Amino acid sequence: MNVLLLGSGGREHALAWALSASPLLTKLFCAPGNAGIAEVAQCIPLDPANQDSIIEFCRDERIELVVIGPEAPLVAGLGDALGDAGIRYFGPTKSAAQLEGSKGFTKDLCRKAGIPTAAYGRFMDLDAAKTYLASQSVPIVIKADGLAAGKGVVIAETRADAEAAVEACLGGAFGAAGAEVVIEEFLVGEEASFFALCDGVTALPLASAQDHKRVGDGDTGPNTGGMGAYSPAPVMTAAMTERVMTEIINPTVKEMAARGMPFKGVLFAGLMITATGPKLIEYNVRFGDPETQVLMMRLKSDLLAALLATTDGVLKTFDMRWSDDAALTVVMAANGYPGTPQKGTEIKGLDLAKAVPNVEIFHAGTRRDGDRIIADGGRVLNVTGRGKTVKDARDAAYAAIAKIDWPGGFYRKDIGWRALERQKT
Ligand code: AMP
Repeated sequence: MNVLLLGSGGREHALAWALSASPLLTKLFCAPGNAGIAEVAQCIPLDPANQDSIIEFCRDERIELVVIGPEAPLVAGLGDALGDAGIRYFGPTKSAAQLEGSKGFTKDLCRKAGIPTAAYGRFMDLDAAKTYLASQSVPIVIKADGLAAGKGVVIAETRADAEAAVEACLGGAFGAAGAEVVIEEFLVGEEASFFALCDGVTALPLASAQDHKRVGDGDTGPNTGGMGAYSPAPVMTAAMTERVMTEIINPTVKEMAARGMPFKGVLFAGLMITATGPKLIEYNVRFGDPETQVLMMRLKSDLLAALLATTDGVLKTFDMRWSDDAALTVVMAANGYPGTPQKGTEIKGLDLAKAVPNVEIFHAGTRRDGDRIIADGGRVLNVTGRGKTVKDARDAAYAAIAKIDWPGGFYRKDIGWRALERQKT
């Protein structure tokens, strides 16, 4: 079958890489893609925000499945538009995508379904928000309700900072996404990323992963989209996975179905593993980036078959197999990221890096200029290693990075440190 993948990041390169290995695939297209994706798919210059042009392309090229990578087109209702046009797609409808599109929606759903999460209040009125703040302790977390490209969360250490964050949010710092603010209890514990395919009724967990959100070594500096990830995550034991499924994922799937908005696609739970058990920090309604890069390195099953089983509602009879190997990815970002990344610098040595055994290089923000590969985004490359242990996977990834000649970029030197410390003990 012909498949259209939407997106242009490292997540999409990893998905394209896995989809291209499927015996069910005839031809893979990607819109808009990047220089790495172009090696496994035909890239087409379409904007996922332009629903009409996507539908027209699907009709012209007889696309039988559209895989929607990023959240923005999902929250904007691309799934519904494709469904109305009779085109099969992987991802939730607009109403189900509220799980990511509105933090307040998700918090209310958690309250209703008894799902463990941070205590919270949601406000559109500044005075009401300030009155609530006055009754809370610090640190406290201030979040814009809507999609704010990962920038809408402030962890305030003082009450003054918290008030300033609430004022900024309700004052329009995030546009319409910040018209409502969620004020949340600060959770303490270890974070983990949890993914489950959901067909509206059944949820099937994927392998576990953990990412590093801060820009600097030792988990310091500003938050980013993610500077690296590894799988499996030692904190997600079989018993913890079981708890997350029974206490968080399954009640969510059930409640969404009961509300007439069944969730189909991949549910990505950001978790805090606290002293009393797992708590939901937030939901995303698409694959994680860079977690997908390590998951795809470990996936032994046919990804396309799994996505079809999800959209067709037959996950109950589906099983996924994972390699026992570990995988670890290191993000190489352009100098200046996460502020203003410097674009247009040349990256050399990729062929040498790719030749390192047990390594795949997924492109996140690149373009080709003749024979040259040019940095074209904040996060630019995901150098991904596989090995018997997290340490072996890490050694493979960093051996490949040593071959890459790119003065215009930087990376963290300590990806996987938590897992490595646990292995030592
Ligand atoms: P989010 O966009 O909701 O995932 O938040 C971004 C990051 O902020 C998370 O990955 C956490 O590191 C942190 N965070 C968000 N909410 C909380 C919370 N209630 N307690 C502690 N940390 C949080």
